[in-house]
Amino acid sequence: MIMRGLKIVAVAILLQMQIGAGYLSAQTGNITRQEILRGSVTPEREWWDVLHYHLKVEFLPASKSLKGSNIITFKALKAGNRMQIDLQPPLSITKITHGPSELKFEREENVYWLTFEKDIPKGTEDRIEVFYEGVPVESKNPPWVGGITWGRDDLGENFIVTTCEGIGASIWWPNKDHGYDEPDRGMQISVTVPEQLVAVSNGRLKKTDHDVAGKTKTFHWEVLNPINNYGVNVNIGNYVNFSEKYHGKGGVLDIDYWVLAHQKEAAIRQFKEVPRMLEAFEHWFGKYPFYEDSYKLVAVSYPGMEHQSSVTYGNWYRNGYRQRDVSGTGIGFKFDFIIVHESGHEWFGNNISMKDAADMWIHEGFTNYSESLFVEYHFGKKEAEDYVLGSRHNIKNDRPIIGVYGANREGSGDMYYKGGNLLHTIRQVINDDEKWLSILRGLNAEFWHQTVSTEQIESYMAKRAGVDLSKVFDQYLRTTKIPLLKYRLSGKSLSFKYERVVQGFAMPIRVLINGKEVVITPNEVKQTIEFPQEIKAFEVNRNFYIETEKQDL
Ligand SMILES: [Zn+2]
Repeated sequence: MIMRGLKIVAVAILLQMQIGAGYLSAQTGNITRQEILRGSVTPEREWWDVLHYHLKVEFLPASKSLKGSNIITFKALKAGNRMQIDLQPPLSITKITHGPSELKFEREENVYWLTFEKDIPKGTEDRIEVFYEGVPVESKNPPWVGGITWGRDDLGENFIVTTCEGIGASIWWPNKDHGYDEPDRGMQISVTVPEQLVAVSNGRLKKTDHDVAGKTKTFHWEVLNPINNYGVNVNIGNYVNFSEKYHGKGGVLDIDYWVLAHQKEAAIRQFKEVPRMLEAFEHWFGKYPFYEDSYKLVAVSYPGMEHQSSVTYGNWYRNGYRQRDVSGTGIGFKFDFIIVHESGHEWFGNNISMKDAADMWIHEGFTNYSESLFVEYHFGKKEAEDYVLGSRHNIKNDRPIIGVYGANREGSGDMYYKGGNLLHTIRQVINDDEKWLSILRGLNAEFWHQTVSTEQIESYMAKRAGVDLSKVFDQYLRTTKIPLLKYRLSGKSLSFKYERVVQGFAMPIRVLINGKEVVITPNEVKQTIEFPQEIKAFEVNRNFYIETEKQDL
C-alpha cells in the first residue's frame, strides 16, 4: 500500500481524516476479543494448515451483493475438530459442507466456529466448502479503507474493485484471515459477472465460461504460488488486455496489462516503466518471485495496491504519485511511483510476508527503500540518497514502527519513510555495497515464499552483515526517539556522545573532520579524540538518520 495521508485534494483530506480517526481509535483503545480472534493464532487455527483456496464468487452490481463459496483444502497438523473461519458482517455464511455432510457452526461477530462430526486425525488432508452471501461493506476510501467499491468509470460503465489490506480479506470472502498461513498450493478465483464486463483477479486466466441464458460470464483465475489473503483481489470493468514478454532472471516472464478500453493509449506509453522496474528489482532482490503466475498491472479507480501478480494501478498514467513527489526533491517525478512502489512489494510483502500485522514494516519499510534503489539503478547513487533523505520530512515519530502483536494492529505510518531510512542507515553501518546487495538478494532467497517475523529479518541481516544490529533495530523500530549526537570541538580535540538512545546503543557513524572521513563509535558515555591539527570543519555523513547538536564552548 502507499502511506495514507498523502492526498492532494482538500476535500479528500478532510474525508480521510474523519475516516482515519475512527480507524485509529479502533487501533489504539483496549484490545478487544474480536481483535485477538482476528490477530492471533488461536487454537482453532493452529491445528490446521491451509493448502489451497478455491473462491467462487458472483458480483451482483444491481443489488451490490456477493454470493459464492470457498473450498478450503487443509492438512491437519494435529488432531482437531473445532475450526475458526473468518467472515465479516454484513456478509454471512449460509452453509458449510464436509464431504456429503453439513457442518454445524455458530457465529461470534466476525468469526465462525465450525464443529466437525469427529476429530480430523493428524496428517489428514481434507476440505470443506463454505457458502456465503450478502451485501458486503462498501469501501469509503480505497485502498486505505477496505471493502467493495461499486463504482463507475468515466464512460458510465460498472467499475468494481476490492480492497482489504488491514481490515482483512474476510471483509469480502471467508478464509483463515491471518498472515501466518498462506495456501501452500495457491488459489483459484472464479468470478462471475454480468456478461458485458470483464473480471480480473490474481494469477493467470485459465478459461472463461459464458452463460448465455443467465447473461453472465465466469472468469477462472489461477494462482500457483502461496498468496497472502489481502493480496487477493477482483477488479471488474470494461477491461481490455495487452501484453509483452520480459526476458529476466527467471526466464521469460509473461506480462499482462488490463486497462479500461479508453485508457489504452496512455497505458501503452506509461507502462514502459514496467520492464525498467523489473530490471532494477531483479538486480537488487533477485528474480521476480512469481514467474509461474505472470506479472500483471491492472487499472483501478484508487491509487494502487500490491495485489500479488496482479498489481493494481490508479496513478493517472503519469510520473510521481498522483502528481506529487513524496521526497520533495523532484526526483519522484522521474518515475511512476505506483508502478515502482506497488511492484516492489512483490519481493517485500508477497514473496516475504509478515506473519503478524505488527511487523508490517517488513512490507512497507523495504518497499519504501526499493523506490530509492530503483532511482539508484537508473539515475545513480547521489539521486537515490537525495530521495531517501528528502523523504525524512514525512516522518512523524509519533508511535513505534512495530505495532501490537496478536491483535492485528499495525505500528506507526513511519514504517514507510523511517523504515526506509533505517535500512539506508544500516547500509551505511555495513559500508560495503556488495555485501548490502547480497543481503537484499539473500533475504529473498532465504525467506522465499515464506511468512516471517521481524526477529527473523533482523537476525538474518545481522548474521550476513557480521555486525550486531540489535540495538539499531530496537532504537528505530521500537522507540520513537531519533539518536542525538552531542559533540564539542576544542582546538585539536573532538568530544561526543549519544543521547536519546536505547541502552547499549553504539552505532558507528562516518564523519568528516577537516574534509577527511573518520569512523567514530559514540555511545552514551562521552569520548574525546585528539587530532594532529586543529579541527576547523566537522560534519556527520548525512546518510545516517541521526540528529546532531553542537555544544558551544
Ligand atoms: Zn506499500
